[in-house]
Amino acid sequence: MSGTDLSAKLFADASSVIPGGVNSPVRAFNSVGGTPRFITSASGYWLTDADGNRYVDLVCSWGPMILGHAHPAVVEAVQRVAADGLSFGAPTPSESELAHEIIDRIAPVERLRLVNSGTESTMSAIRLARGYTGRAKIIKFSGCYHGHSDALLADAGSGVATLGLPSSPGVTGAAAADTVVLPYNNVAAVEEVFARFGDEIACVITEASPGNMGTVPPLPGFNSELRRITAAHGALLIVDEVMTGFRVSRSGWYGVDPVDADLFTFGKVMSGGLPAAAFGGKAEVMGRLAPLGPVYQAGTLSGNPVAMAAGLATLRAADDAVYSALDANADRLIAMIGDALTEAGVAHRISRSGNMFSVFFGGEPVTDFASARATETWRFPAFFHSLLDAGVYPPPSAYETWFVSAALDDDAFDRIAAALPGAARAAAEASKPA
Ligand SMILES: *Cc1c(COP(=O)(O)O)cnc(C)c1O
Repeated sequence: MSGTDLSAKLFADASSVIPGGVNSPVRAFNSVGGTPRFITSASGYWLTDADGNRYVDLVCSWGPMILGHAHPAVVEAVQRVAADGLSFGAPTPSESELAHEIIDRIAPVERLRLVNSGTESTMSAIRLARGYTGRAKIIKFSGCYHGHSDALLADAGSGVATLGLPSSPGVTGAAAADTVVLPYNNVAAVEEVFARFGDEIACVITEASPGNMGTVPPLPGFNSELRRITAAHGALLIVDEVMTGFRVSRSGWYGVDPVDADLFTFGKVMSGGLPAAAFGGKAEVMGRLAPLGPVYQAGTLSGNPVAMAAGLATLRAADDAVYSALDANADRLIAMIGDALTEAGVAHRISRSGNMFSVFFGGEPVTDFASARATETWRFPAFFHSLLDAGVYPPPSAYETWFVSAALDDDAFDRIAAALPGAARAAAEASKPA
């Protein structure tokens, strides 16, 4: 390792022009402390920072880079398409190619609209659900993240049927008032709210398998119960696959747990590291969108040809061998982390959905945001920094998911194996803040 002086200098300069020095808060390392590494290049499983340090990447740009970084097929497609012009503000053939690619994999998705970020996809899906049903209230679950639009930044925390309070200044009470926040994995809470005001509820939105309070999979049957309850009350079910889509299988979580939702949202993997996302569902519902219907939704750069090329190249390169490698790499990494922590005497639970997982310290099961928050998250910064110093880059927060790529090989695992005992000891020695 050659220190972090250049990253520190770059961070100081960034902080003089960009609030907090970053364009997405978790990058600032606030929950683990220390200097965020400024990345200058990446290839395969390697990240290289400004000081020339190299790290085995276990974040993968928060999920998208399933093939590893700078995959030749993706880079070649982007370069070829970029040479033909970057944006036209008119339809291009690759938009329907990507729509077909997605529609062919997820049966309930009959029509797809392309947008620029996961935030836009869920925001637009909520608007469509409200426009379609003529109802105002929405239900979301505590600890599920659906991007940063106003109505979805309500999280009143635990308790049954809590009416949403804005969880960020700048989100008005009015924007959050129609958002009902319920504890995750709790069917009774959903039943209770529908019994009280079922005919006012436009939709339930849920992460297909949550990864934003750490990885906390749905209990068996939870998503189907949501389908049953929403259908009984004329509300729509929106399954947010922005994180799981095309990562946990070629059909995302739908390939694992096929629930016939009305709308699905996608992002991350589907655009291979460039900014594009999508929402889609039943033709009858999607037909309410402009220009066919009255629900307005638009985007200057939506369906951008370079982003389409990156997405298509990624999805097409991700064959069965890639998905097997992702699962095998997750198996191997989870076993190694578990063994190292056990060896160091650190109570832990590794919570898993397909090839996504999180490391929770402490012995209690985690099934919702309250139980995730009750874990020994204070052990995480020491664990994180020990790994980082040894050239392994895990997610910089205890509440985030670890993401493997198919590019990890024996050399990568050797480096991780060398880093883990020290990190496990650091976690064991961490002390609870007073
Ligand atoms: C990342 C994420 C989003 C937001 O996507 P952005 O592209 O960051 O706006 C929405 N939902 C889920 C489940 C996510 O993981």
